[in-house]
Amino acid sequence: MPITHHQPFQVSEYPLEFIRQVAERNISAIQERQAPLWPRLEARARAILQIPSAQGTKVRAMWKLADELLAPAEGNVGCRRGCSHCCHIAVGVFEHEAKVIATAAGRALAMPRGRTEFSDIVPSYTNPCPFLRDGECSIYDNRPMTCRTHLSLFQDDSLCRLREDKLVEGPYYDGTELRVLIGMVGDLRPGHAPKMADVREWFPAQHDEG
Ligand code: SF4
Repeated sequence: MPITHHQPFQVSEYPLEFIRQVAERNISAIQERQAPLWPRLEARARAILQIPSAQGTKVRAMWKLADELLAPAEGNVGCRRGCSHCCHIAVGVFEHEAKVIATAAGRALAMPRGRTEFSDIVPSYTNPCPFLRDGECSIYDNRPMTCRTHLSLFQDDSLCRLREDKLVEGPYYDGTELRVLIGMVGDLRPGHAPKMADVREWFPAQHDEG
């Protein structure tokens, strides 16, 4: 299984070469610490997918696996407690994750149409995730895989700030494998592709939410 790579970046106030060097240094450090974990975690991922158990149990097990794999990123990402820029962009959530979140948060689940594209979700500080409260995630232990794997490889939040006039992309950790694994927890029978939607579609903002 390939480990990680970072996506290209487009615009920032930092020199691109400096950003590249910081990102390369961080991803190398993370990968070095992750390498010994892969064999055990790959075996666990296979077991989670194969052993019959409730879908919610599998979702939680896969979230836990992701946390263990990503724990070595501590100290080599720009993400910090109280930083919430990425809670204002599109947040794709599988239906089987949304059900676990609904139970944990005591929220009713809306039934959106499901989608694979999120280009109509305009990043905006006026349209946060409904679970963002006072700048922090109110469902942190039950946040979806998208949030667990969205890690900036730069040294601070300067590339994550939303800008109206220009697009800044990354460098981000590539959590594709983990997002594929959480997708595989869903109902994969023919004709039963797991439904995905933005977090705001599963959980429309309530009037008392900020
Ligand atoms: S679930 Fe939590 S971490 Fe994810 S976007 Fe919402 S508030 Fe942010």
